[in-house]
Amino acid sequence: MGAIRIKGLEVFGHHGIFKEENMLGQKFIVDADLHLDVRKAAKKDEITESVHYGEICDFICEFMQKNTFKLLETVADKLAAALLMEYDLLWWVDLEVKKPFAPIPHSFDTISVRANRRWHKCYIALGSNMGDRENYLNDAIARMEGNSYCRVGKVSDFFNTKPEGPVEQEDFLNGCIELTTMYDPYELLHFMHKLENEAKRERKIFWGPRTLDLDILFYDNNVQADDRLILPHPRMHKRAFVLDPMMQIAPYAVHPVYHKTIEDLYHELPESAHYQPAESEDEE
Ligand code: AMP
Repeated sequence: MGAIRIKGLEVFGHHGIFKEENMLGQKFIVDADLHLDVRKAAKKDEITESVHYGEICDFICEFMQKNTFKLLETVADKLAAALLMEYDLLWWVDLEVKKPFAPIPHSFDTISVRANRRWHKCYIALGSNMGDRENYLNDAIARMEGNSYCRVGKVSDFFNTKPEGPVEQEDFLNGCIELTTMYDPYELLHFMHKLENEAKRERKIFWGPRTLDLDILFYDNNVQADDRLILPHPRMHKRAFVLDPMMQIAPYAVHPVYHKTIEDLYHELPESAHYQPAESEDEE
């Protein structure tokens, strides 16, 4: 892919935990690696296929001058995210923000913090079996679209499905979406929980009825498991209500544990387990 590298960009800013730093300001130095498809730009030899490093330097200076943060960590992390949001061709930003005159009584070259943000490809399963189910799913997708750390890609049809597990309850409406996000896996899980809470979901009965259920199916090719998060989702490969909508939007996505495509997993389920897309509840 390649990257544009900016080294030693000087910016005067007011970041720091001491009020004197916020009032007087001081010099900061930024190094940035901006990852993009260099080969694509090279083929056309046109700036429209790349990002203008002059504009990026202006953007960094403006961002660091108009915002004031206490921590270098915040400056570096928020600046990396802001660059990704502003420049569509960038997919990964790696930054170092240095503070050569940090107010501490020691001799040193510089103090710095490194941060990076990049876009990650994920798939999310959505489900609802209470109230206006279609509205809960559409509203969750709209809220993801409205979040600047997320970009919604392909969206499947919604499927009417039968509840699984020990609790007797209404049928579900299920769907899947492709989501590109700057969040790390736990930040994404936290955002999903926030959306569930905003849909007034109550966790009264385990596996019980819910206004909105959001599961992270895949996060890049991550394979990880702890008390909070298991990736890929541990039951997705057995569930028609996940594989049917996934088959529409990502048949060739490969499960990083079983090394099988969605299409393979879909065909491993008995024919009788599959569902048909639901008619939209808005349609006559
Ligand atoms: P649920 O009742 O389906 O919302 O799931 C309950 C818990 O499962 C959540 O609070 C998460 O901490 C945990 N969990 C583990 N892995 C995942 C995943 N891949 N996606 C969503 N939640 C997960």
